Amino acid sequence: MSQTLLYGGIEAGGTKFVCAVGTGPEDVRAEIRFPTTTPEENIPQCIAFFREQSSIYGALTAVGIASFGPVDPHPHAATYGYITTTPKPGWANTNVAGAVQQALDVPVGFDTDVNGAALGEWRWGAAQGLDTFIYLTIGTGIGGGAMINGRLLHGLIHPEMGHIPLPHDWQADPFPGRCPYHGDCLEGMASGPAIEDRWQKKGQDLPPDHPAWDLEAHYLALALHSFICTLSPQRIIVGGGVMAQPHLFTLLRQKVTDSLNGYVQHTAVLENIKTYIVPPALGAHAGVLGALALAQQRTMDASASFQ
Ligand code: ADP
Ligand code: ZN
Repeated sequence: MSQTLLYGGIEAGGTKFVCAVGTGPEDVRAEIRFPTTTPEENIPQCIAFFREQSSIYGALTAVGIASFGPVDPHPHAATYGYITTTPKPGWANTNVAGAVQQALDVPVGFDTDVNGAALGEWRWGAAQGLDTFIYLTIGTGIGGGAMINGRLLHGLIHPEMGHIPLPHDWQADPFPGRCPYHGDCLEGMASGPAIEDRWQKKGQDLPPDHPAWDLEAHYLALALHSFICTLSPQRIIVGGGVMAQPHLFTLLRQKVTDSLNGYVQHTAVLENIKTYIVPPALGAHAGVLGALALAQQRTMDASASFQ
């Protein structure tokens, strides 16, 4: 039933907002993008867009919000739906979900941007039919979302896969890292801005044979090794601006295989690494489609709790 219901989605990113109205990837009726500025400006922009679109296409069944974080994704917590402790000016302690819910009077699904993207890939993209997988983004920051046994993983707050510590050979790579909390954690060493700081050039301006890519694949492979051994994902989807380098997938798959060294005895890893570590199938729309998927999930959860 819910395939035909109309939903709203908000991808709340650190640099831009994307809002869409639709039922799924084949049926996005309208989309709008604007730069992330302040909650006072951005939230009314979202609300005005949904009001306008529902006057054209009809009422929205629910709205999903996939947000940069940290966020509170626990429905029973006092700060559910908030962006919580972000250093981003103006956004700390912002009740995003509450503001949208009150203005539009619709149910709101809310989660991290990466959990949203994971859910979108599960419903329509590269993770269909799986119940345990992870979605990573390697961009301005590094983040990971996870579905474990069919449920999005939240736990204490939500995973922060970008901030795991990594072995750091200071002689081979004297770059100290740029995470304000940890220095040389994964995000500190391998995010887009880390590449730019280390090599004094943006990733998009480095040629494919530059040593940056071997080092980048090295750090990402160490991280994937840890995630594979911790969560036993059936697949790993890796997106984000940095992965727009197509040869990086080849390097990454090879280094993960080398690092695991035959220990994880499954054909998915041993023989089919090309379909084990994959790009997102939803491409540039993964973020906002993830938000639509959160809206759809919110509706399904609500109808399940009435049964
Ligand atoms: P965000 O993380 O802000 O949502 P992106 O996922 O697009 O945005 O990531 C932006 C980062 O990706 C920037 O640091 C940029 O330098 C880097 N980037 C963008 N395009 C490429 C490319 N073709 N190759 C390598 N790095 C890229
Ligand atoms: Zn960190």
